[in-house]
Amino acid sequence: MRALLVATTNRHKLEELQTIFSDLPYQLLSLHDLHIDLDVEETGTTFQENSALKALTYARISGVLTLADDSGLEIDALGGEPGVYSARFAGRNTPYEERFRIIYERLHAQKELSPAPWTARFRCVITIAEANGYHQSVDGALEGYVADAPCGEHGFGYDPIVYVPAFGKTCAELEPAVKNRISHRGVAARHARALLESWPQSSSSHV
Ligand code: IMP
Repeated sequence: MRALLVATTNRHKLEELQTIFSDLPYQLLSLHDLHIDLDVEETGTTFQENSALKALTYARISGVLTLADDSGLEIDALGGEPGVYSARFAGRNTPYEERFRIIYERLHAQKELSPAPWTARFRCVITIAEANGYHQSVDGALEGYVADAPCGEHGFGYDPIVYVPAFGKTCAELEPAVKNRISHRGVAARHARALLESWPQSSSSHV
């Protein structure tokens, strides 16, 4: 069994990956398990840069093969915003209702240029990195539109404003199991699984 550090403090992400990787010969460890409380600043301008930055930093610190992700919402009519700034858009502690108000205001202000329906997608990039700097990234996306108005009670973050046409619902109206199955994170995690299945073997960080 090889150790795989999942560079997240989010227990739900760790559990989701544990399920997807359950039959692989990797023991998943959290930052908490390795007593790492360093917070890596996301200074990149793309999801790929941020996920690689996190995976490489934690791999170097821990000496353990490390997986990190970065995700967010891209709205084409807003030039891809909030994008990598999704968590910080309008201020890290700003309630999502207020963020939605700002997004709709900006979309309506530019609607002559780019009228509704407004295409949008959740995107997730996962990077797996060795302590020696070798790394690979995979991605996943969930395509949709900005909903006419926020709707739904499930999920988190921008889920109420992302309408998924194949289901005729926003992400916050979908049952969580359905959302997880089709989500950008789920798709990227399944690609990461394929990456791990053919990952070059190394003598370091076995448990
Ligand atoms: P992180 O990659 O987990 O840090 O997520 C960045 C931010 O993107 C989150 O704080 C949310 O605002 C947004 N986000 C990412 N994935 C989702 C999702 O599945 N639903 C809603 N919002 C999301």
